[in-house]
Amino acid sequence: MPDFPNIILFAIPFFILAMLLELYVTLKQNIKTYEPKDAFSSIAMGLGNVFIGFLSKALVLLALTWVYKFRIFTIPVTWWSFVLIFFADDFSYYWFHRISHECRLFWASHVVHHSSQKYNLSTALRQTWSGGFYTFIFWLWLPLLGFHPAMILLQMSISLLYQFWIHTETIDQMPKWFEAIFNTPSHHRVHHGSNPIYLDRNHAGILIIWDKMFGTFQPELKNEKVTYGLVKNINTFNPIKIAFLEWLYMFKDAFTGHKSFKDRLNYLFKPPGWKHDGSGKISNDLRREWLNNKPKSTR
Ligand SMILES: [Zn+2]
Ligand SMILES: [Zn+2]
Repeated sequence: MPDFPNIILFAIPFFILAMLLELYVTLKQNIKTYEPKDAFSSIAMGLGNVFIGFLSKALVLLALTWVYKFRIFTIPVTWWSFVLIFFADDFSYYWFHRISHECRLFWASHVVHHSSQKYNLSTALRQTWSGGFYTFIFWLWLPLLGFHPAMILLQMSISLLYQFWIHTETIDQMPKWFEAIFNTPSHHRVHHGSNPIYLDRNHAGILIIWDKMFGTFQPELKNEKVTYGLVKNINTFNPIKIAFLEWLYMFKDAFTGHKSFKDRLNYLFKPPGWKHDGSGKISNDLRREWLNNKPKSTR
């Protein structure tokens, strides 16, 4: 089995340097994007994710290796297969990320990444503690096709590394051709917005093309400044609460009170915001309302 290093660990010193540089640049421009409590809780989430990752990655490797036994082809580990896996992984990432926003069972772990009301490089480190144990199911078709598990894990890490630099307000727009193909700070700011027009848009990992293909692309609008965070913010810097609060709320909704069995299941599988009495609003409802109320000229 080819052994690829855990590149995330090697990247940690660069993460720190880049954050310090961003802090310096923003302070010089008098932009207050860093708040110590917020940044430290993001870093704590990132460190927790790395430690829990030793466990969850073992499980993921086990699952990928098991499925690999039933592979249809045997794809060699070589340059062209890395080209293929780049696209295959990014496609898997898009659907993983989109479902993470559209199904509460996955949102419960992904919400962590969106829980900061600030947007800077430290926000990139605000990672889930629970997602690693079950979101890998979106990648299981890769070993079945015949991609080697070690290759898959490496490409997943490369994707995560790519997504670090796009968490910044210091870069406005990249060159046009780059914005057209790749996920960029501008596209990803939209993804972190709680403005109705920005909700559940731009789920891309490395390539923005998937959002354009599947109808979830939204460019950053000049007259609609991004409000970062959640529709309902959790207002805590406590890492344990950040990691597990949504799980608690979801289980409460699903398993308490008088509801039909179907409604209990719906609380796990419907989008966040859904309520069994019809009073809830999901992202699509909020976007529709916003578009209906907005005068045409400002759309
Ligand atoms: Zn997201
Ligand atoms: Zn992000």
